[in-house]
Amino acid sequence: ADRPFDAECLFCKIVSGAIPAEVVLDTPRALAFRDINPQAPLHVLVIPKGHYRDVAELAAAGGGLLDELVLAARDVAVEAGAADKGYRVVFNVGAGAGQTVYHTHAHVLGGRGLTWPPG
Ligand code: 5GP
Ligand code: ZN
Repeated sequence: ADRPFDAECLFCKIVSGAIPAEVVLDTPRALAFRDINPQAPLHVLVIPKGHYRDVAELAAAGGGLLDELVLAARDVAVEAGAADKGYRVVFNVGAGAGQTVYHTHAHVLGGRGLTWPPG
């Protein structure tokens, strides 16, 4: 598929298979895999296969990609049995919010009580 790609990007390398990941969902335009440093019993990252630096850039690209990520996040939570008690979908945008990988990703967190605000 024709989609933006960044050869230096960690998550583009996961999409291409150059770096392994524990994949839990694979669709034509999205990939979900376990976070390497999980913060909850369920902690999965859902990413577009194309390279977009943050969720705003992804949303601006249109084409329903953001909707697909949100629905993939739901599918991951349902599959993990975490949907009933609630789960969280988080996009960190920018360094001040904790974004460290500039290939947008939804954190899907669940399987334990989640407090608000997150800190
Ligand atoms: P951010 O801080 O950008 O919102 O989230 C980046 C996330 O990617 C972190 O939760 C971090 O643990 C995870 N991560 C970083 N490198 C890797 C990796 O190589 N593999 C996987 N599966 N997760 C990673
Ligand atoms: Zn990328």
